[in-house]
Amino acid sequence: MASVKEAKSPGRSSRTASKSKSRSRSRSRSRSRSRGRTSSASRKRKPTTPKPKQENMESNSPARTKARTPERAATPTRKSARLQNLNLAPEERKPVIFEPYLDEEKRVPRTKKTEFGGAIGAFFMIFGLPVTVYFLNFVCTQNKCKPYLPVIPLDWQSYFDIQAAAIYLGWMAFQALLYMVPVGPVVMGQPLRSGQRLKYRCNGFISLCISLVAFGAAVYFKLPVGIVLQKFTQLITTGVVFSLVLSIILYVNARRGSNNKLAPGGNTGNFLYDFFIGHELNPRVGSFDLKFFCELRPGLIGWLMLNLVMLTEQYNKQGALPPALTMVVVFQAVYVADALWFEDAILTTMDIIHDGFGFMLVFGDLVWVPFLYGLQTRYLSLYGVKMEWYCLVFIGILNLIGYYIFRGSNSQKNEFRKNPYNPALAHLETIPTASGKRLLVSGWWGLCHKPNYLGDILMATAWSLTCGFSTPVVYFYPVYFTILLIHREYRDAEQCHKKYKASWDRYCERVKYRIFPYIY
Ligand code: NDP
Repeated sequence: MASVKEAKSPGRSSRTASKSKSRSRSRSRSRSRSRGRTSSASRKRKPTTPKPKQENMESNSPARTKARTPERAATPTRKSARLQNLNLAPEERKPVIFEPYLDEEKRVPRTKKTEFGGAIGAFFMIFGLPVTVYFLNFVCTQNKCKPYLPVIPLDWQSYFDIQAAAIYLGWMAFQALLYMVPVGPVVMGQPLRSGQRLKYRCNGFISLCISLVAFGAAVYFKLPVGIVLQKFTQLITTGVVFSLVLSIILYVNARRGSNNKLAPGGNTGNFLYDFFIGHELNPRVGSFDLKFFCELRPGLIGWLMLNLVMLTEQYNKQGALPPALTMVVVFQAVYVADALWFEDAILTTMDIIHDGFGFMLVFGDLVWVPFLYGLQTRYLSLYGVKMEWYCLVFIGILNLIGYYIFRGSNSQKNEFRKNPYNPALAHLETIPTASGKRLLVSGWWGLCHKPNYLGDILMATAWSLTCGFSTPVVYFYPVYFTILLIHREYRDAEQCHKKYKASWDRYCERVKYRIFPYIY
């Protein structure tokens, strides 16, 4: 990974190389002294060495280059960019983003405020999250699906199996290959601390379609797809080990890399905390963005595949599709397909713009989502539930309302962030902020702070309702998810307050409710 990191910027001048060397040296003993030397030295050299543009990146920062380089001559100042925009028709105006931290010389500061209970919380989560996945896996079996102390197998074969490892790793490799297929639009990410914007190839929906065709072919040719259910625990183990190894590599690589690539929230200097929360913001291998890939591909599509295997098994057993199971599989399939269809919308979410890529996201993406989110389908395939048609209609309507709110709000914010001058959003009221960005204060974002979370919670509830009320185990998902999103809303509000200060206070005054209008 270290060599990969170097390969990321093949055109870098020796100035940049010596700078990053001195940066990594500065991490050791005399951090503050060597930091001072580095920045003053680079300041002196700057005017004579124009920095070449990096592959996969585009400069968006007028604040980056103070010297009169050719690059700078082409870069507008804050004033000229605004004036230029005023001369354009509204639909042609470009977003002018001037954030106070867009200064090359500014390093990612030490993270002072921790989340999730700091290093101690991180320690417990690193162990607690895998234990929860195993626990729920043992709690909901064909013998019983009740909240009881399950029988825990003690032989290692119950946890590890070479075939399961091969399936998991083969799936990861298959998805990685699909990710690299050069089809689909290339979208620019939000401006980074350095002012640059990363490019992302959005071919997630194509990957999903190819995965579905591959699954259909496997079923058609009668391949034993059911093996993934028999080896469910062993697949979990492979996922846990894979996540641990990947997170360690990511942490080590981040330690050796440039400071301004670190995540602002994962730079405490405490190994456990930074490892858990994510030390580097956007780790990449060349143009392969690891976080963007893991967020929506192997885990999310894997979750759908496991669901489809359960549905296929039931169809083979019963000769028909069970209504409640089919319904929840369809709902979740729509959720997954939606995420991949609107793949570029993830570029304005917290996971991409704020959180580093560490154990928390790696494990969440590669183990938690595929092996826990299917708890309802697992229960329905093991026990089956007979429900009156009007109950199913009610659940269907609840899911549709949730989806409508979820999609409408996410798209509205994403379109606005991509182009604040989008004529389709011209009717929306906004609040200006000192950073140049504006906050939506009407439309979906005037309803509550997180209309997208509200929609998500409604859908999660609808999925569990398909299982009826005979066991609370299947309600784990909506309960956990509501807690997660309430906490996430707090985290984001803190970040927004830091970014937008008085403007955020004004937004909060205008929009009173956090997630549930008139309730919370
Ligand atoms: P958001 O998509 O709400 O992104 C938060 C960012 O949006 C803020 O940091 C801010 O960034 C911007 N923002 C906030 N308020 C406004 C406003 N009024 N006007 C304009 N911009 C605003 O949050 P998440 O990233 O947490 O969630 C994305 C989606 O993913 C949600 O639908 C959520 O439900 C879902 N999700 C699903 C999970 C799952 O496991 N299924 C887990 C977590 C999330 P800035 O101003 O810098 O642009």
